Amino acid sequence: MPWRETDDPFHIWLSEVMLQQTRVDQARPYYERFVEAFPTVTALAEAELDAVLRLWEGLGYYSRARNLHRAAKMVTEEFAGQVPATYEAIRRLPGVGPYTAAAVLSIAFDAPHAVLDGNVARVLARVFTIEEEIGAGRTRRRLQALADVLLNPDCPGDFNQAVMELGATICTPSAPACPACPLQSACGAYALGTPEAFPFSKKKAPLPHYDIAVGLIFDDEGRILIQRRPEDGLLGGLWEFPGGKREPGEALPETCRRELREELNIEVEIEAPFGTINHAYTHFKITLHAFRCRLVAGEPVSSRALPMQWVPIERLDEFAFPRANRRLIERLHYLQDNPSLFD
Ligand code: SF4
Repeated sequence: MPWRETDDPFHIWLSEVMLQQTRVDQARPYYERFVEAFPTVTALAEAELDAVLRLWEGLGYYSRARNLHRAAKMVTEEFAGQVPATYEAIRRLPGVGPYTAAAVLSIAFDAPHAVLDGNVARVLARVFTIEEEIGAGRTRRRLQALADVLLNPDCPGDFNQAVMELGATICTPSAPACPACPLQSACGAYALGTPEAFPFSKKKAPLPHYDIAVGLIFDDEGRILIQRRPEDGLLGGLWEFPGGKREPGEALPETCRRELREELNIEVEIEAPFGTINHAYTHFKITLHAFRCRLVAGEPVSSRALPMQWVPIERLDEFAFPRANRRLIERLHYLQDNPSLFD
């Protein structure tokens, strides 16, 4: 992994942020592109947020990118471009919680801080047969205390990475490879013959599902209207086609017209359905229904004062969009290359 071959604190920090909630194989190309575009904290601090989000597009959890960008500015302004090497200082940076702080300090600076991520928690819960709900605060504190005691102060970075790696590659959530595990003789769950029974966790409720209707509104020059999401909240700072959630019992074209009326103060005529995209987020699923629309009354004015732009289709790739919107854009590009299919 490229981030294991560097001692640059910024690159280590970046990799730890990317690896939160993201698999190694998915994060790797993003990491490589990011480091190439922004090799230093200062380069990241000087970049436009749009450029940062565009490189992050598809990785999800966009607050990570926004926080990283804000934190880079803070490092540049308050720490002379050097990633802080103390726990108190690094925890002041936006988006740097106990896990990221411990990981960066131990790996980049050999500071004795034990990490507790999902992989480490699972390994410890199995080895010590912790029969408590893994997500509970009390359990996390108990696991953190265990990790603190176990940490080898002579090589904290190696120790942390070894336990994380063990959890990611051997002590996996299902079918752990116990015969290959160096902790087998010390592992309580293995001795009980029930490693997969640990850690204890509550059953997850099924994800709610929402239907979303969006309008693809073209102006006379063939440009399409996009709107930027508020910076705080889900997918914050990304661009999207305007629209919103279907109300109970509402027909989808009506949802589209109503949302555009409420959001942009315009009336549109639905010309044709453009496509349906299913997408799952962490806490819910959506079906995105897109409609090609014609503006029949009003000039778009955002009711929430959000930025808007009319953009030629060929320039849409310059903006960062959520995954489901990006799939609509791919379809727009295809139809642009094959205009006879537009009818
Ligand atoms: S012996 Fe099995 S359950 Fe125990 S730590 Fe190793 S892989 Fe995990």
